[in-house]
Amino acid sequence: MTINPSKCVACGNCTYVCPMGAIYIDPQIRRATINRNECVECYACYNGMSQEHLNPTMVRTLRRIFQMMRLRFDPEPDVCPTAAFEPEELVWPRIVRRAFSDPRVPHESTGVEGRGTEEVKTNDVSGRVKVGEVGFTIEFGRPGVGVWMRDIQQMCRALAQAGVSFEKRNPVTSLMTDVSEGTLREDILNEKVLSAIVEIKTRVERTEEIIHLVWEVEKRINTVIAIGVGTRCDPDGKERVVGPILERLGYRLERAKTNIGLGRITNRLVPATEQEGVRR
Ligand code: SF4
Ligand code: SF4
Repeated sequence: MTINPSKCVACGNCTYVCPMGAIYIDPQIRRATINRNECVECYACYNGMSQEHLNPTMVRTLRRIFQMMRLRFDPEPDVCPTAAFEPEELVWPRIVRRAFSDPRVPHESTGVEGRGTEEVKTNDVSGRVKVGEVGFTIEFGRPGVGVWMRDIQQMCRALAQAGVSFEKRNPVTSLMTDVSEGTLREDILNEKVLSAIVEIKTRVERTEEIIHLVWEVEKRINTVIAIGVGTRCDPDGKERVVGPILERLGYRLERAKTNIGLGRITNRLVPATEQEGVRR
């Protein structure tokens, strides 16, 4: 994203809109400026504000005159009065930022909007996590924090070393050059995104070990990390294996949502011995 300095009148409205705090008024040039390193190309500034097309020279003059009279001339808070935002044509690898940060852009690898994962919520239909397995979603970043792809790689490498299976239709997995090592493409490592989700699965017996591993690696990563855990219930709707492990680790469990399989089963039931996932 760029701001056209010849149009910007430095009203400051956009500085409150950016979820990464990447927009600031540069006192040298007296215009709003975007810190390119921190900008994750989420387009919240461009899409979230109304764009008016006032003449910049007229607005600056009015603001100066009002200032002399100790009055203020400010546009409405959700408006860029001079339509100064100009999205740039994003090319690889910077385009990765937008795919993970603008929820309205479908991710090329999966065609799913946002971070491009259906997570484990559709498991009743997809049958991805099978009986005896546990699926994890490891979510990195949040508005205001974001995450570097190089930091996601740290986690992926540790998980790969532990021998877990990465979900094939996940955008992060699709950016790996070596899934068996959890290595991401070299050219995207210095890209920052608003958030991303790594999805893995393993046997239920490894639940505690994997959570401890995530706890250990997250100490080295400067962002917010949230773990989601999904598993299969018994035919009577109860879950007796993973829940107690999570409670022992200090998580308080509440059944907030139950997905019932209203849909088409896309994965045939595969015996546990054939369920070794997507490691290539
Ligand atoms: S809202 Fe528009 S005019 Fe105001 S500071 Fe931001 S870019 Fe400049
Ligand atoms: S595109 Fe998003 S991150 Fe970049 S300046 Fe605009 S609001 Fe901030």
